[in-house]
Amino acid sequence: MTRIITTLLAVLLSSAIFAFAAHHEGTTLEITSNDTMQFNTKSFEVKAGEEITLVLKNLGKLPKAAMGHNLVILKPGSNVAGFATAAVRAVVNEYIPTDDANKAMIIAHTKLLGPGEEDAVTFTLPDTGAYPFVCSFPGHFALMQGIIYAK
Ligand code: ZN
Repeated sequence: MTRIITTLLAVLLSSAIFAFAAHHEGTTLEITSNDTMQFNTKSFEVKAGEEITLVLKNLGKLPKAAMGHNLVILKPGSNVAGFATAAVRAVVNEYIPTDDANKAMIIAHTKLLGPGEEDAVTFTLPDTGAYPFVCSFPGHFALMQGIIYAK
């Protein structure tokens, strides 16, 4: 009898775990940034339409005012240099532009991170395509940019 109950419990438990896993379907990605203005990746692939959780970890030690990092995901075909130029002026908004044209390019963005900080952002890339990502801290986008390929 005890054995039957144990088996039943095991079956119930595994279906509970399965339900939990199914509910949290999606992909979690971790990207790091550092004091030499680098992300640890220049490109990666995700599935279009899938929920993505992206965690940005700033491994740097320099203060946020000198070497802050964020990660901004833009729509395919966005003018990345134009966006980064507008971002420089958005000091009070942690370098996320607030004008309509630039705001419309943003899919998602993390907070601006100081040394040792991290932030997670959840988003979905609706269509297949190449989605640029940048750090919008002044002067960083030339080195700190890459592409997310949604397949
Ligand atoms: Zn940066």
